[in-house]
Amino acid sequence: MGILRVDQAELKGKRVFVRVDFNVPLDEKKEITDDTRIISSLPTIRFICGAGGKVILASHLGRPKGKRDPKFSLAPIAERLSKLLGKGVSLAPDCVGEEVRGQIERMKEGEVLLLENLRFHQEEEKNEETFSKDLASLCDVYVNDAFGAAHRAHASTEGMTRYIQTVASGFLMMREIESLEKALVNPQKPYVAILGGAKVSDKIGVIRNLQNKVDTLLIGGGMAYTFLKAKGFSIGKSLVEEDQIGLSLRLIEGAKGKIKLILPSDHIAAERMDVQARREIVTNEKIPSGWVCLDIGPETVKIFLEEILSARTIFWNGPMGVFEMEPFSQGTFAIARAVADSQAFSIVGGGDSVAAVNQAGVADKIGHISTGGGASLELIEGKKLPGIEALRKDG
Ligand code: AMP
Repeated sequence: MGILRVDQAELKGKRVFVRVDFNVPLDEKKEITDDTRIISSLPTIRFICGAGGKVILASHLGRPKGKRDPKFSLAPIAERLSKLLGKGVSLAPDCVGEEVRGQIERMKEGEVLLLENLRFHQEEEKNEETFSKDLASLCDVYVNDAFGAAHRAHASTEGMTRYIQTVASGFLMMREIESLEKALVNPQKPYVAILGGAKVSDKIGVIRNLQNKVDTLLIGGGMAYTFLKAKGFSIGKSLVEEDQIGLSLRLIEGAKGKIKLILPSDHIAAERMDVQARREIVTNEKIPSGWVCLDIGPETVKIFLEEILSARTIFWNGPMGVFEMEPFSQGTFAIARAVADSQAFSIVGGGDSVAAVNQAGVADKIGHISTGGGASLELIEGKKLPGIEALRKDG
């Protein structure tokens, strides 16, 4: 695939800039509530330390909108990373500038320095040239392990790579690319894609691309109701994107004779979106006016399960219902368990579907859990990701 991996690069004594995704959730007390992203980056960091590189870590955190804001400081992350690594991690006062340069000059082999939030500079998201050159001047080797940010052409994911001879992927990034390409390039058949979540408009590109690749497309979640309305069903007060109805109908027509596009046939409908509200299992023809459909029903689960259990490749993005509320979570959890039970190579991406497989306790039975929802969708959509393309040159 023409991409160097970190363990194929010469690292000893080198200043190694590693773009990581430390954009972790923090609570009001600035405590990290989920450190999965930090843990995922440890193999790459440990490897570079062990190989005698000087590790310069860089990440964004939240949306400080190009201004220095202590609320978005990476200080809590430096502390957690230090605990996880079992060694000191210094936090630089900024991500560019003379002071940072001095700190890097004093680094010894195997030491770790975390740069301050890249997005304290608006030039980062603007992929500005001088800022890219400033970042590049801090290092000898560039490593990208931030798959979750690979669909953005920012200075730290794309711009700076133009000014560095040796660029490589980290272990996490490489695993993401290899797993997703397995589903893209030569998927074993039957290939079943499951799409859910709130919006059709977010997933149009993926649906279009998948129509030429998959054998079966299962659509659930809030987005299913735009399709059902397009087919002429009364959907009550269920979620709908009126401006996507025409397109949904064209997608349904386009799928005919090519792939199986399966929509829900029954639902958990409720008087309103509330755990206390009256609810009922209803078929497409019997959705009460004024009610909302908040999960797929048992008949739909059964039909979806048959497809999932006979698949050889599965791609899943987006929950089947409002799974955050217990009464409407059964459809999503049933799908999570079935994806885990199937013999298929399965890929699950997107924060909510990943949360569902974690909550269902089946994460270890999934072929690949993608750390980047948006990035994995864009890759499956057939787009070239700037952060990955930037790595395709000889080291
Ligand atoms: P997305 O970010 O597009 O993947 O959407 C995820 C969100 O879709 C979750 O917060 C779900 O609660 C929501 N969702 C799933 N199914 C439905 C539904 N039937 N009605 C309303 N919201 C839904």
